[in-house]
Amino acid sequence: MSTLFNRIINRETPAYIIYEDDKVIAFLDIGQNTKGHTLVVPKVITESVLTADEDTIAYVNIIAQRLALKLSDVLKASGVNILTNANPVSGQTVPHYHVHVIPRYTEDELKFLVSSNSDTIEETFTFLKDHLG
Ligand code: 5GP
Repeated sequence: MSTLFNRIINRETPAYIIYEDDKVIAFLDIGQNTKGHTLVVPKVITESVLTADEDTIAYVNIIAQRLALKLSDVLKASGVNILTNANPVSGQTVPHYHVHVIPRYTEDELKFLVSSNSDTIEETFTFLKDHLG
């Protein structure tokens, strides 16, 4: 399967690459939700965090943390969101596992919207106790 991110890895699609090694590539997200918003992408093609092997998940997140520290330092960010979306319902638009590193600034307006659900926390906990095994 060829994905947009695979085309970036293969230099068929241009990107602002800020880090690369034999296992991952990191480049600026075209959306730039905040200054320095970066995507960390494994070179192995796997759809999401739900399909990736544990070594890949570990390495992608290690690099995400290193970049978060460096970006925060040079861009003078006050914090960072490190997150991943899995499947379209969660907001995933590119079916190639990636982690967002989003530097956060005191005055930025970025908001993650959440909606509530109708089950109580007790109902959910009881259901999970019976089903998680
Ligand atoms: P997702 O929504 O799948 O979690 O994240 C995909 C991200 O890829 C989005 O934040 C979007 O802005 C970014 N994106 C989409 N197309 C391109 C592109 O051509 N180049 C770069 N650098 N980022 C892209």
